[in-house]
Amino acid sequence: METGPGPPRDPPRPNGPPVSLRRVPRPWQPANGAGGLGDNVGGLGPLPLTSLLPQGLPDVQPRLVAVSKTKPAEMVMDAYSHGQRSFGENYVQELLEKASDSRILSSCPEIKWHFIGHLQKNNVNKLIAVPNLFMLETVDSVKLADRVNSSWQKKGSPQRLKVMVQVNTSGEDSKHGLPPRDTAAAVEHVINKCPSLEFVGLMTIGSVGHDLSKGPNPDFQVLLSLRQEVCEKLNLPIEKVELSMGMSTDFQHAIEVGSTNVRIGSTIFGERDYSNKADGGKAPG
Ligand SMILES: *Cc1c(COP(=O)(O)O)cnc(C)c1O
Repeated sequence: METGPGPPRDPPRPNGPPVSLRRVPRPWQPANGAGGLGDNVGGLGPLPLTSLLPQGLPDVQPRLVAVSKTKPAEMVMDAYSHGQRSFGENYVQELLEKASDSRILSSCPEIKWHFIGHLQKNNVNKLIAVPNLFMLETVDSVKLADRVNSSWQKKGSPQRLKVMVQVNTSGEDSKHGLPPRDTAAAVEHVINKCPSLEFVGLMTIGSVGHDLSKGPNPDFQVLLSLRQEVCEKLNLPIEKVELSMGMSTDFQHAIEVGSTNVRIGSTIFGERDYSNKADGGKAPG
């Protein structure tokens, strides 16, 4: 790990992401350098750094997943042409349509789709049919894991499907995910009973609008300590277990406390308009 003040932020690359994307992830920097990330991150203002910054976490550059839900294929292609590769969607039907769009297929050959919404068992086969599906971030039961495992097996892909286990860290009824206490067993199930799946991390949404003056978001802390627990119980190296947490309003904070995968929609693509989406069957979440 670095011990100095840390490198300056990436200079804009000629082929880098558009301005709005450049605001997004920066390398996580260790706590012990003056002037590191966090003196005044984005609009968040000064943060109580010493209490926030975790010790001994893997020094990884977080992945930006650009969440394109409700946005047209043109916007995906535009971001792709500026260097963005990872995109996220939370409705299976919308993902299937967008990922199968002939323009995206021909102009975005390296696109990596992340599914980040609630997955119902009757939609598993449809999800598995999505071209360039890279990761399923929302495995929230062992039954769902089994379904996805057998569906992926039937597809006969040479690679395993990367999956994360989703945890309901905030305990809100409106949020999907496993209760924290069931997480380690679900991860163990994926690793030992689902040979077509590759367990890559834990995902959470957490409480939205947490007041950072009260300290770090406790839901993110729950995900961090769950990773610790999972790694100890299952003897996994910590750098092999990603943490997907942080959205438009809280990604800076999430990165500071150790997120490796942020899912950002409106900050990149603008506010979503659901007014013309009243076509039934598309309940959020
Ligand atoms: C929509 C969505 C996001 C992105 O939300 P923004 O606030 O627009 O950044 C992230 N994660 C999940 C699971 C989502 O459904």
